[in-house]
Amino acid sequence: MPVTIDRVTCYDVKVPLRRPLADAVYYRTHWHIPVVEVRTSDGLVGTGYSGVWAGEELILDAITHYLAEVVIGQDPSQIGSLWRAMYWSPLHWVGRAGVAHMALGMIDTALWDIAAQRAGLPLWKLLGGSHATIDTYNTDGGWLNFSLDELLADMTAMVDAGWARVKMKVGASPESDLERVRAVRAALPSDVELMVDVNQRWDRRCALRMLHPLNELGIGWVEEPLHPDDIAGHAALTNQAVMPIALGENIYSQEHFAAFFAAHAVDIVQVDVTRVGGVTEWLRIAHLAQGLGLPVIPHAGDMMQVHQHLVGGAGSELPRLIEYLPWGLEVFAEPVQVNRGLLTLPQSPGASSRIDPVARARWASSVCEVGGSA
Ligand code: MG
Repeated sequence: MPVTIDRVTCYDVKVPLRRPLADAVYYRTHWHIPVVEVRTSDGLVGTGYSGVWAGEELILDAITHYLAEVVIGQDPSQIGSLWRAMYWSPLHWVGRAGVAHMALGMIDTALWDIAAQRAGLPLWKLLGGSHATIDTYNTDGGWLNFSLDELLADMTAMVDAGWARVKMKVGASPESDLERVRAVRAALPSDVELMVDVNQRWDRRCALRMLHPLNELGIGWVEEPLHPDDIAGHAALTNQAVMPIALGENIYSQEHFAAFFAAHAVDIVQVDVTRVGGVTEWLRIAHLAQGLGLPVIPHAGDMMQVHQHLVGGAGSELPRLIEYLPWGLEVFAEPVQVNRGLLTLPQSPGASSRIDPVARARWASSVCEVGGSA
């Protein structure tokens, strides 16, 4: 009997953050992990998921009402064909980015999880990786809702815990941003790299004005300085900035990344597997970037669980560096292993996306199943 997909199960996991956090756009107290589990007729279960502050029910509705019926009854090993079938489903009409595309990406990741389990390999080895460790930079600090004293304590604590690269949020006002960056830079050892994240809040004039003082401070990169659709603006900045311009967490497709590459509008590619169409499209974009000599350092919307496999497996030309963002790691059955900034890749088969049953019982809701019964 050929193996087919016989059931798709969706639910949302809502995890409280250890402390409220704000960047230049959002204030958060919780993190949602919408989950899809894809079961095969021979009993394998692949897990895909995303990470959002809101709209988790829309993503799950897109799967249960539209995408599940596209894949049920199909061969789970035909990942490329299923990606195309989902992409050209009726949902294409209402979104090639955002909710519809993130839902597609969740199922795609579940299919790669199945493929790795069937191969008996961790996904990074299935993809051809040979290195067992990845460096991380810590972005779980430097929030805009922290006072200056809290900020300094927070940034210093990350370095004391072993990280040699750390990132802080800016985007409040130019004066306040520079005061806080100068204070942090002065408080950290000189060999620690400091990056700043604007979360899209500057306009072109403000960004150009900020580049010089940030460069004087030796900032490692400036992240998302402008609106994510402003390709011409980012091209002007990369042309004038000495430090790299990093972006990608709000770009949803291979085609949109290709437009940034063609315009020389990005230096560091932060493609996120939970925003683009899963593992399949992440690999296409990473390989395109590699061919152009652009480093790929993904945004950790997946809390590193899947990205560790992609960075570890996508080729020796990628810098082995990944964003460290530990919210909700207690949700996963096999959370990433990071010690003093160094991530050790897992050896168990799959994509490390499986949800811990205790965490599911504690935090999951909105369960919906399509297809055969258990
Ligand atoms: Mg960011």
